[in-house]
Amino acid sequence: MKASKYYNNTHFARANPTCTMQDMSQELLDRLDVSTDFIRENFDKNYLHDISSAGRTVEHERSRGRTGTSSHVIRPHGSDAVDIRNRGDSRLRYWIMAGLLHAGFDRIGINFAQNFYHVDCSKTHEKEVLFTY
Ligand SMILES: [Zn+2]
Repeated sequence: MKASKYYNNTHFARANPTCTMQDMSQELLDRLDVSTDFIRENFDKNYLHDISSAGRTVEHERSRGRTGTSSHVIRPHGSDAVDIRNRGDSRLRYWIMAGLLHAGFDRIGINFAQNFYHVDCSKTHEKEVLFTY
């Protein structure tokens, strides 16, 4: 049974495509909690990540013309990736970044045009990368 201090099925039901907390890896959930604690302690005591995409099936990925190897794909241990929307300004963008690094995420993407982060803890993809879209 997957558990999280801050996130529940409501947050994952709002993701596109919709999924459940059980579709996620426990490590991903733990790192989301650590990053949320950090942002709450240092910037906004009510902060919660706004999860815009999370676990995806291989079928979903292939229907979008993708290979199905994304870290978003729901594997036996769960999905290792979420996309986090930044609904704030450049200061919040800074604190989200600080929180993600503090939580030990070593694969981060920033989409400046659409104002979101991709973050994952995949064991099979390249580590220590910061990419853009
Ligand atoms: Zn992503």
